[in-house]
Amino acid sequence: MKTNSLYLHIPFCEQICAYCDFCKVFYNEHQADDYLAVLKHELQALNITEPLKTIYIGGGTPSSLNDEQLEWLMDIIKPYISSETKEVSIEVNPESIDYYKLDILKRGGVSRLSIGVETFNDILLKKINRQHTTIQVERIIDYARKIGFNNISIDLMYGLPNQTITDIKNDLAKVRQLPIEHISYYSLILEDHTVLKNLNYQPLDEEVESKITQLIEESLEQIGFHKYEISNFAKTGYESLHNLAYWQYDNYYGIGVGASGKIDDCLIEHNRNLNAYLRRQNTITKMINSKEETMFNHLMMSLRLVKGLDLKEFEKRYGLRAVDVYQTAIDKHLKMKTLVIENDYLHATSESIKLLNEILIDFL
Ligand code: SF4
Repeated sequence: MKTNSLYLHIPFCEQICAYCDFCKVFYNEHQADDYLAVLKHELQALNITEPLKTIYIGGGTPSSLNDEQLEWLMDIIKPYISSETKEVSIEVNPESIDYYKLDILKRGGVSRLSIGVETFNDILLKKINRQHTTIQVERIIDYARKIGFNNISIDLMYGLPNQTITDIKNDLAKVRQLPIEHISYYSLILEDHTVLKNLNYQPLDEEVESKITQLIEESLEQIGFHKYEISNFAKTGYESLHNLAYWQYDNYYGIGVGASGKIDDCLIEHNRNLNAYLRRQNTITKMINSKEETMFNHLMMSLRLVKGLDLKEFEKRYGLRAVDVYQTAIDKHLKMKTLVIENDYLHATSESIKLLNEILIDFL
């Protein structure tokens, strides 16, 4: 299978959020210079010859890089952007991006911004140790529009400490006013060793969470954002192409500390040791999956999509029909109406998609 997607990880952040379990360190100018040099070397060593359709620069906080470093990052990816590249995304945080940096990104070929907003409630932002304010978000979106970005996504979260339904309604009201195309709306996950977990903050109970997701889905639907994945909503034509590659279990390169990639049945993981990465030591582990594991991973990822698993594509890749491989589980869930086959796609229903983990147990 061809590999047409590339993920680059920038691990630097200017602050550490109270819920964060990503691979990140505090920004340090010299370290970031060294990092970009190693990243460039790693990218060149991949000898990519196929044109890339999507490039995604994530973090960490890529916008924590200074102006020169962002220019350099744009130079690093420039040879890989062609007429066949449909999307070049970058994650930015409102407090570390400005008009000048946005202009660098635009000139560098970035076509899509993913802004870490989390909530429009400035008090809640402080509680989770985010450093920006709502006014900064509005200003950045305004600048981005003026510069010519027409594909803007924001990340939002629910289940934050002491966040009320009214807070969520206020966030949704704010969304209505903003010129954006895409929203990733995540439930707070309490990962081990994060500040919120250490403070013994408790997650939402299932019933409350279900009410909140219903509120979010209905409110976003009303203003033209359709749900296309468990946590992702887009205006028509603005689904994240790079993330779709993950969910369709396509191949992708992943470079940088902590990044992972997938080439056919091989999963490639970089460990999180930044110093080893900077010393250009081998930080990569490769794991070859069996055909059964690869098929299951493909099914698991694709059932996250509202559209579901492309049954024809599955048969093309593995020479087997999913309805034969998983006959017992599929029959059971078709009868229970928790799964549906429609236009050669196997998908969960709007209700059952919330119970995906339980459904998947039957496929193991
Ligand atoms: S900005 Fe993002 S990567 Fe950095 S600490 Fe916060 S959540 Fe984690």
